[in-house]
Amino acid sequence: MSMPLELAFSTLRARIAAAASTPVQLVAVSKRQSTAAIVAVAALGQRDFGENYVQEALGKIREISDPTLQWHLIGPLQSNKCQWVAEHFDWLQSLDRASLVAPLARFRPDGKAPLNVLIQVNIDDEDSKSGIAPEAIEPLAAAIELQPRLKFRGLMAIPRPAPDLSARRASFRRLRECFDAVRARHAQIDTLSMGMSEDFELAIAEGATLVRVGSALFGSRETR
Ligand SMILES: *Cc1c(COP(=O)(O)O)cnc(C)c1O
Repeated sequence: MSMPLELAFSTLRARIAAAASTPVQLVAVSKRQSTAAIVAVAALGQRDFGENYVQEALGKIREISDPTLQWHLIGPLQSNKCQWVAEHFDWLQSLDRASLVAPLARFRPDGKAPLNVLIQVNIDDEDSKSGIAPEAIEPLAAAIELQPRLKFRGLMAIPRPAPDLSARRASFRRLRECFDAVRARHAQIDTLSMGMSEDFELAIAEGATLVRVGSALFGSRETR
């Protein structure tokens, strides 16, 4: 049985606050959730929402049409969707290649704030995962910083789903170390996006400044 949204939201906020000593940004991951559920969570004060699929997100962004919401793309980006992302999202958390940088910048409308960009890092060196190797972060960061219509904000990763929480914690720690190294050269970056429903407290303990939480808030995506 799923908790009513209001209770799930306040419980989640309390758990984040208890785990954190400085403010942590919550992105409510609303993929495969209804617009009604998103509107209900927005009514509780939540502003940041994360979506994995560009097309699905565009429908929701148009339908909800609330300029105070911040939309984050957290799923892989195909080059033919750069224009849509540049025009309709506020954050791209999953940048993983330099070839997307120029199109994103070109399509970012002048009337909007620069697109906030996180580089996705393949922190466990998995074959199947998107994200770049830690060694490749610096050239990509430099490419983003050449574009005034983009704003480099930090790093994101999805660790391997290890059943062993200490392995996951080690992944979070490695990403944190990457983040500190990158920040030594890009002092303005402020966002370390890691941690999901199962492990956001561990991620916060390792320095996450932004957590992406779906099922712990909305309930299971499968039973909708
Ligand atoms: C689905 C998803 C989440 C949220 O996952 P939950 O386990 O439902 O909290 C977070 N980040 C990414 C990249 C996702 O695809």
